[in-house]
Amino acid sequence: MKEIRMVDLKGQYEKIKPEVDAALAEVIDNTAFINGPAVKSFQSNLEKYLGVKHVIPCANGTDALQVSLMALDLKPGDEVITTTFTFIATAEVIALLNLTPVLVDVEKDSYNISIEAIKNAITPKTKAIIPVHLFGQSVPMDEIMNLAKTHNIAVIEDACQSIGAGYTGKDGMYRKTGSIGDMGCTSFFPSKNLGAFGDGGAVFTQNDALADKLRMIVNHGMKVRYYHDEIGINSRLDSMQAAILDIKLRHLDEYAAARRKAADYYDNAFKDREEIITPYRYEKSDHVFHQYTLVANGVDRNKLIEYLNSKNVPAMIYYPVPLHQQKAYLDPRYKDGDFPNSEYLSQNVFSLPMHTELDDEQLKYICDSIIDFLNAQ
Ligand SMILES: *Cc1c(COP(=O)(O)O)cnc(C)c1O
Repeated sequence: MKEIRMVDLKGQYEKIKPEVDAALAEVIDNTAFINGPAVKSFQSNLEKYLGVKHVIPCANGTDALQVSLMALDLKPGDEVITTTFTFIATAEVIALLNLTPVLVDVEKDSYNISIEAIKNAITPKTKAIIPVHLFGQSVPMDEIMNLAKTHNIAVIEDACQSIGAGYTGKDGMYRKTGSIGDMGCTSFFPSKNLGAFGDGGAVFTQNDALADKLRMIVNHGMKVRYYHDEIGINSRLDSMQAAILDIKLRHLDEYAAARRKAADYYDNAFKDREEIITPYRYEKSDHVFHQYTLVANGVDRNKLIEYLNSKNVPAMIYYPVPLHQQKAYLDPRYKDGDFPNSEYLSQNVFSLPMHTELDDEQLKYICDSIIDFLNAQ
């Protein structure tokens, strides 16, 4: 059996090596390392894929979130609602810009931000909501967009884990995550579903004015060279990364299918075990399984992970500490127990190997190892 890895970037690369190597050689040959034709090509192909008017490439997913917030011209103290059960970047950029992160709980079954909790957190100071399509499954966007419309709040989708996933709205339209809110953000970190060989990110929007502004912000606040109309930052996707991403984009749906196949295998293996709760899937949302995350129900999660590791099966915890319990984000507004679902999940979830190269032999071995552990309890 092949070695089991959380993510198998090597196996994925080997299948597209000739294409990738040729594209990289071309970038090196034409030396257009920054803003070269590879960036334009990827941008336009991604716009087509997502059905979105504008893709603004940038340096990473965290920057994508930051420049999206900057484009909204908010004032210090304005409130931005997001989930406490996510990767830190989502809240980090809010805090960095001197805005006030308002954290809310998630749903216990889907791990995604709770619509009820958002409703309860809205105040006259709320200026934006950042729903996170956690682990690759779209948040029910109709509900978010309705709330945002009623209260005149901007929506920035954190689609860093969900590129390629879609959501079918009440109008029957199927849209890709990141193309539904005012802006959508993604990351091309190597282990993400569309991963570069380094860092990368992008913002998506259907709005021309926002697109204009975002392009200025990522480029030192300038439209005409050396004339700076806004305070911006320097955040670029380089041409080598774009060339690789352009090739991988052609395979993205195939990659998602491979991930779903592995997820189905896991779902099926644990369907009769009450000690393992498999991830909930919404009817109207695709799940592209950036992570396959389970809940250990009444069994010792840490012992289970230890056992798996001893069998050479990697397993990880995403995320062990919700944001309101992180040292840097401790805040008198929040205390332990305020977000029971997020706290419960952080103590009981674990994620199994999930990538495009898992074969049935590996999947069987992983599942058998878990069942062996459960049977020994
Ligand atoms: C990865 C990730 C980010 C940040 O992306 P980087 O490219 O690493 O900066 C933000 N939000 C979520 C939910 C992520 O998973």
